[in-house]
Amino acid sequence: NNNVGGGMDKLGFSSPTKQVKKNKADRFSLLPKALGSEDNLDSVTRKNSKHRHSCSVPNWKKVMNEMEQPNGTTEEVSSRIVVCVRKRPLSKKERSKNDADVISTVNNTLQVFEPKLKVDLTKYTEVHEFSFDKIFNEESNNMTVYKSCAQPLVFAFFKGCKVTCFAYGQTGAGKTYTMMGTNEEPGLYALALEDIFRLKAKPEYSHLGVYISFFEIYGAKLFDLLNGRKRIECREDAKQRVRIIGLEQRFCTSVQDVFEILEQGAQARSTGSTGANADSSRSHAILQIVLKYNEDGMKNEEDPDYTFGKLSFIDLAGSERAADTTHSDRQTRMEGAEINKSLLALKECIRALDQNQHHTPFRGSKLTLVLKDSFVSVDSRTVMIANVSPSASNCEHTLNTLRYADRVKELRKDSSGSR
Ligand code: ADP
Ligand code: MG
Repeated sequence: NNNVGGGMDKLGFSSPTKQVKKNKADRFSLLPKALGSEDNLDSVTRKNSKHRHSCSVPNWKKVMNEMEQPNGTTEEVSSRIVVCVRKRPLSKKERSKNDADVISTVNNTLQVFEPKLKVDLTKYTEVHEFSFDKIFNEESNNMTVYKSCAQPLVFAFFKGCKVTCFAYGQTGAGKTYTMMGTNEEPGLYALALEDIFRLKAKPEYSHLGVYISFFEIYGAKLFDLLNGRKRIECREDAKQRVRIIGLEQRFCTSVQDVFEILEQGAQARSTGSTGANADSSRSHAILQIVLKYNEDGMKNEEDPDYTFGKLSFIDLAGSERAADTTHSDRQTRMEGAEINKSLLALKECIRALDQNQHHTPFRGSKLTLVLKDSFVSVDSRTVMIANVSPSASNCEHTLNTLRYADRVKELRKDSSGSR
């Protein structure tokens, strides 16, 4: 059987050779009306599920509609989880090698034209179709991605929610470009921070302060990027709150402040305190922005950290690293196994979030443990941006990424009755 697409892949899910999903109800969007969402979903449609996985959909739409947005618009939100795909352009190198673009996108549907060989070596193309909440193609810039995916999270953050934005995908697919961006093309970090400090300046938020932490998870160990990549520990306390012991949190008052800090952090990330180079494709980088009550402000008895809202941006380890478990080098194998474990646990935790499950398997990995409060909080919201390369040579990784992203939203889709 030379059908590569038909087995079980590393992340443990079956790989159907053809996936055709054309359910309109699946294509709702986080876009505020003002930004032109055409696909606002009638939440009733989604509740008419006949599927055995049917579950109650958290009524975020209603919750968020009741909250007037800081910019005066009303945000439309139908789910606590939004899954988007971003296709990057072919790189110069790929173009010079005549590597083909195998991805086409139309609205919220994406097709992958997988080049394949029959047993007799004749060529054919297998077409795989997927749909997601939002698809960004090579013409979308970081601002477009920000407005549609991350800005709604920033608004929710200012309502006191625990919100998370993940960049998932193989190394080189555009995760860091999306999150950190470049000088010419600022990424989600910078665009979010600009909004955050603009909102923070309003008198109604004068009782809050903005704090930043930046750390990475490398082979199940935590390293503080704001403190020379110092090793730090994460534990659950007697009240089952997850605490990261010794994590630096810096009070910031401007985007400039944060960027100076992030630059140091990025440097620590690539060099490390011991000089031993940590490969950033094997670690998860986590930027947390916390809105805290001023200490003289209202104290939350349950929370000694005075947290009001929390926004986490996670630039995940390269998803292809999860397959390093057969590598000849033991260290690499162990790291691969840990990445595999964390990406599987992450998928399960996001799925649990969408089902409003009482049990969230956050203890399944260091990554999900660290993010516990963002998974179990009733106020949590998550956006996953699955980054893919368009090139034929990366087709297999691209399909793995799309299948992973598809699984993350699968239960929600079931609840819309599309299967
Ligand atoms: P990852 O972090 O997933 O390993 P990067 O973000 O470093 O990947 O992207 C790999 C290369 O592709 C970088 O040179 C980056 O500048 C470029 N790139 C990624 N996404 C885009 C995009 N949407 N537009 C233009 N260039 C991109
Ligand atoms: Mg990167």
